[in-house]
Amino acid sequence: MKDTFKHKGLRQQLVETIKAKGIKDENVLDAIGRIPRHVFMDSGFLDHAYQDKAFPIAADQTISQPYTVAFQSELLQVKPGDKILEIGTGSGYQTAVLLELGASVFSIERQRELYKKTSKFLPKLGYRPKKLIFGDGYKGLKEEAPFNGIIVTAGAPFVPKPLLSQLAIDGRLVIPVGDEVQIMTLFIRKGIKEFEKHEFGEFRFVPLLEDKN
Ligand code: SAH
Repeated sequence: MKDTFKHKGLRQQLVETIKAKGIKDENVLDAIGRIPRHVFMDSGFLDHAYQDKAFPIAADQTISQPYTVAFQSELLQVKPGDKILEIGTGSGYQTAVLLELGASVFSIERQRELYKKTSKFLPKLGYRPKKLIFGDGYKGLKEEAPFNGIIVTAGAPFVPKPLLSQLAIDGRLVIPVGDEVQIMTLFIRKGIKEFEKHEFGEFRFVPLLEDKN
């Protein structure tokens, strides 16, 4: 799929929109400005790609709203070389943002169909995560821990313990917590058993489900 001047122009408008909504991190804004979001969506949704909205992808899932992707990425404070774990690969759009920020990315998806599709798709665009995993994100990824950051891109009814325990000291967990509506929550690990907790506004995500499918 092509990335035309029209797409680039629409993308710049999108960057301005999320900036106006309060996103300040220039690295995050630049990443959104570089990634051709339209190719992460089915062709029928091409016209919608640069609106600040979530859209359906395969397997009843959604590509998150750009503002939400930016908000979570900003909270994560990714530095080049950071080891980041993403729960909910989905379309791979958030994965691409993390890669643009210079992270070394591990990402888990529980839907086989999406896992397969996105595993093939990302390298075609030149995006190379360290590892995409078909599995259950509630468990995290113990063999690769500790992580500088963990980002959950589905609504979690509770905070899974393994995710907290797989954070490095000073590591950050960004997770929307709640059932129908979620509160964006940031945990910063200050010591072995010490975590700082910060809460942000309300968001709506598809649910974080147990087990793989
Ligand atoms: N980051 C994605 C957002 C996709 S929506 C993007 O940018 O497109 C959330 C995704 O989380 C869905 O693909 C869903 O299948 C996945 N998911 C839900 N529960 C999960 C779990 N326990 N482990 C891993 N992935 C999960």
